[in-house]
Amino acid sequence: MAKHQFQTEANQILQLMIHSLYSNKEIFLRELVSNASDALDKLNMLVLTDEKYKDVTFAPRIDIVINKELKTLTIKDTGIGMNEEDLMNNLGTIAKSGTKAFLENLTGDQKEDSNLIGQFGVGFYASFMVANKVEVITKKAGEEQAYKWISEGAGEFEIEPAEKDSHGTEIIMYLNEGEEEFLEEYRVESIVKKYSNHIPFPIFMDKEKTIPALTDDDGKETEPARTEIVNEQINSASALWTIPKSDLKDEDYISFYETIAHSSEEPLTWMHNKTEGAIEYTTLFYIPSKAPMDIYRVDYKPGIKLYINRVFITDDEKELMPTYLRFLRGVIDSKDLPLNVSREILQSNPIMSKIRNTSVKKVLSELSKMMKKDSDKYDIFYKEFGNVLKEGLYSDFGNREKILELLKFHTLNSDEMTTIEEFVKGVDEEKKEIYYLTAKTSIDMLKYSPVLEKFKARGIDVLLLNEEVDTIIFPMVTEYKEYKLIPAADAKFEESEEEKKEQEELAKSYEGFTKEIKEILGESVKSVAVTTELTDSPVAIKIDKEDPSYMMAQMMKQMGQATDAPEPAPILQINPKHELIAKLKDTSDRNLIEDAAHVLLDQAKLFDGQELDDTADFVVRLNRIISKAL
Ligand code: ADP
Repeated sequence: MAKHQFQTEANQILQLMIHSLYSNKEIFLRELVSNASDALDKLNMLVLTDEKYKDVTFAPRIDIVINKELKTLTIKDTGIGMNEEDLMNNLGTIAKSGTKAFLENLTGDQKEDSNLIGQFGVGFYASFMVANKVEVITKKAGEEQAYKWISEGAGEFEIEPAEKDSHGTEIIMYLNEGEEEFLEEYRVESIVKKYSNHIPFPIFMDKEKTIPALTDDDGKETEPARTEIVNEQINSASALWTIPKSDLKDEDYISFYETIAHSSEEPLTWMHNKTEGAIEYTTLFYIPSKAPMDIYRVDYKPGIKLYINRVFITDDEKELMPTYLRFLRGVIDSKDLPLNVSREILQSNPIMSKIRNTSVKKVLSELSKMMKKDSDKYDIFYKEFGNVLKEGLYSDFGNREKILELLKFHTLNSDEMTTIEEFVKGVDEEKKEIYYLTAKTSIDMLKYSPVLEKFKARGIDVLLLNEEVDTIIFPMVTEYKEYKLIPAADAKFEESEEEKKEQEELAKSYEGFTKEIKEILGESVKSVAVTTELTDSPVAIKIDKEDPSYMMAQMMKQMGQATDAPEPAPILQINPKHELIAKLKDTSDRNLIEDAAHVLLDQAKLFDGQELDDTADFVVRLNRIISKAL
């Protein structure tokens, strides 16, 4: 008998389970039935497509066995089973991505943490919420040797060879004192109906039935009442997505979602469509009400299961739907794909592309409907998934316009968020230019950005984008319908002859001053120039168009690229009409000019959403200036 330690993360999850952080214990049954169903799915596919499994019988069923004397509850399946290596890998570690982040997010507050764990999806370890000992007896299809895995949840587990007639898995839970409710048939049956009614395989259980007493014509009892054990199917095993919409209730959709998404949170919405014609397929997509933990991880787990005529094919294919819709959970089932479809074939299969393209259109149009008809719901969606959806702006060129129309924007002239369709109603119909400003900072900060002063002076509205993803994606979005999208800093407005002349004169009279500032700041600025674009701010920075933008440079740095390429130095624009600049020009305090030059550059950087290279230097200089003023 070999003893093994649980991987640290697995043990931490296990301890959380044992100490019942999770408020809703009954879901352990949902998790185990869902694992059994997955194991049947996997075997079904292998038997149909893999020569090696051609002699394996596929007789799918799940059995729930209650033993009141031993106080055990057993879940058996006739699925793929596990060998020794599988047991080591699957029931000793946690392969789920985001586990570390999840554990780090725990606060120690029972209530908050139990919410978190509900989102995380608990799996096999949930059995330890109700059991003090769990045994897994399992035999892998096509192999000779069976194994037994045993654990009491205290940091270690054992694996030993065992006897088992046929392939599949048996999970035996020795229930804790106080969990006797899970030994009651009616209770177990109602949990199964609640969460697992529509998985594609039958679940059986022994039920005690009372046979009424038999009487003769005079009412005399000829045979006493007795009880009999009957083995009955307790779920409908219908593969929910194959049932016509009209026969399904909201509860059916919700409980199916909870099974396939391992979630205790109700979905935000769902879309169920059957398409007939040249290609026949059914899709059932859910939008969760909360983003899964791993949504921003490269190794996120995709949420769509592909079936071919009710035979499960894969749930590990990221390309079934585009990555910017990776929040979707659900099923795609088509009769028209070949069963032995491989990953490579899937990616280039015209039927699959057709299904994918139509599905994307469908999802986008459903979202658009939600946006217009149920804005509260849409706001929840947008808060959770808006930034993921934005990725589609560069990855799905064909649907760019539709995706843009699904976004919500802050704008300079309003406190309410708006859509691009609304926004263009206020755009100058001759210029057809949409201006936008992106920086990773607060919307309030953005509104005070010096770049916007020329717009404020003219009453022109500007889209304000303050998410990191905006700063990366929007520079690549150059048009919407017949409108051009233009970064605020690049906007050009007509200057009158008078203004031009004024500008020239100012530039001349400030020549010495700008030269002095440039000398002080050296390589940290590309140049120093007088501007008429500013009204309220003394200074602003602007990246020369020929330089890759600051954010791009940051991004390239993060990706470990071009680290020896110099960061683009900005142009420092100064506003001669600002009192501070006018006074600074006339001062003879050389030290003051030097401090002021650095502080002004730093404040312009802050407004641009950048971090300062040397905050201490900024503070020292600022304090020196204040002391002088006092
Ligand atoms: P998840 O199901 O989310 O992957 P679990 O902790 O529930 O996480 O299960 C871990 C793994 O153990 C599964 O991915 C599967 O490979 C294996 N497993 C669990 N239950 C069974 C079963 N009844 N039959 C075969 N394999 C199983």
